[in-house]
Amino acid sequence: MEKETIALHGGYDKKFGYGTMSVPIYQSTAYAFRDSEHAANLFALKELGPIYSRLTNPTNDILEARFAELEGGAAAIAVASGQSAIFYAIANVAQAGDNIIISDKIYGGSVTLLTHTIKRFGINAKVFKSEDASNLEELIDDNTKAIFFESLSNPQIAIADVEKITQIAKKNGVLTICDNTVASAALFNPIKWGIDVVVHSISKYTNGQGSAIGGIIVERDGLNEFFKTSQRYSHFNTPDESYHGLVYTDVPLPNFTLRVRLALLRDIGASLPAFSSWLFIQGLETLSIRMDKHSSNALEVARFLEAHPKVKSVNYPRLESHSGYEKAQKYFKDGKASGLISFDVDNYQEAKNIIDSVKLFSVVVNIGDSKSLITHPASTTHSQMSAKELEAIGINPTTIRLSIGLEDTKDLIADLSKALG
Ligand SMILES: *Cc1c(COP(=O)(O)O)cnc(C)c1O
Repeated sequence: MEKETIALHGGYDKKFGYGTMSVPIYQSTAYAFRDSEHAANLFALKELGPIYSRLTNPTNDILEARFAELEGGAAAIAVASGQSAIFYAIANVAQAGDNIIISDKIYGGSVTLLTHTIKRFGINAKVFKSEDASNLEELIDDNTKAIFFESLSNPQIAIADVEKITQIAKKNGVLTICDNTVASAALFNPIKWGIDVVVHSISKYTNGQGSAIGGIIVERDGLNEFFKTSQRYSHFNTPDESYHGLVYTDVPLPNFTLRVRLALLRDIGASLPAFSSWLFIQGLETLSIRMDKHSSNALEVARFLEAHPKVKSVNYPRLESHSGYEKAQKYFKDGKASGLISFDVDNYQEAKNIIDSVKLFSVVVNIGDSKSLITHPASTTHSQMSAKELEAIGINPTTIRLSIGLEDTKDLIADLSKALG
């Protein structure tokens, strides 16, 4: 089925319950067992069904099934935030003494999580250049457990060389994890390019209205076979003491998300509330048409900025002048490049003045809302960094970032035009 259809119908069978057209919200902590045997069977995975909402919830089941189908994956698991999705995806494969390889162009929260917080768990991160993967292979060793990158990065708007990353990872038997938040499941599907695991902050474009925080992890089909014989991931093919000796690869369910659920959600518990899940399902219904509109609006605004005398440079991969243009054409649906744009003006003060002068754009440290947003990273989200550190991650004191919404571009351009003076 096509994505627009999956986004409306995937994972929900109206034959059950009352046939509600809107997916039901199962606002329940626990679920009654038929009898003690039923309970025992559920715990032993002989039968599948809800036990307790920290582990599974019927509304979340629908979101997970729909999202997995949209991304072309075998299964998905929804969690409480994009950050917890990334943490679980890493913690599912790496432990103290291991290392991971992460892209040089990723979200600020991922930088702190993956370089500082998990370091305290004994997991070290090495950094590779995801735009060309030129230094990736030399960083891989026997203890490397994951390669993590963003397909379209926030805030640098850089596009990863997905094909090359996949090729190097497969050759070396290392798992790939792609954060697909900014491109969205509507414009790009990493699994179709051979990526093993996809994560999203569904707080952004999936939700679309800035109304809830959530995350999701999707795994590709066939990971079970990969784990079955892998030395590197032997905790999948040897008994898990914490689950009375369960061997994950003996279970005929997608193993990666199964282990996140049975071990990590069980013990760490960042589960997604059913009501939030319902909001994300509402969001998915219109994801494709919104991403088309975000992308066409952003292109119009980018073209306006490119022609403006006060704008020094514009960073938007759908502009022919952009270094990522070819990759956007290759990977993204019709070359559409989502709603993030950044641009540079002459100096710091001018950048601040523009932020203070816009009326329609909200000054917000978020992306992917239906309303247009503006940020000045150097004076807000990245204000603790030195000029040198900022330069290293591609943020100048003169950079302004826009998340283009669904308004009429005439109004957006008029607002920017006035603010630019
Ligand atoms: C926002 C964001 C995250 C973190 O997600 P939360 O839902 O805010 O926890 C991770 N990755 C990217 C690319 C993001 O934009």
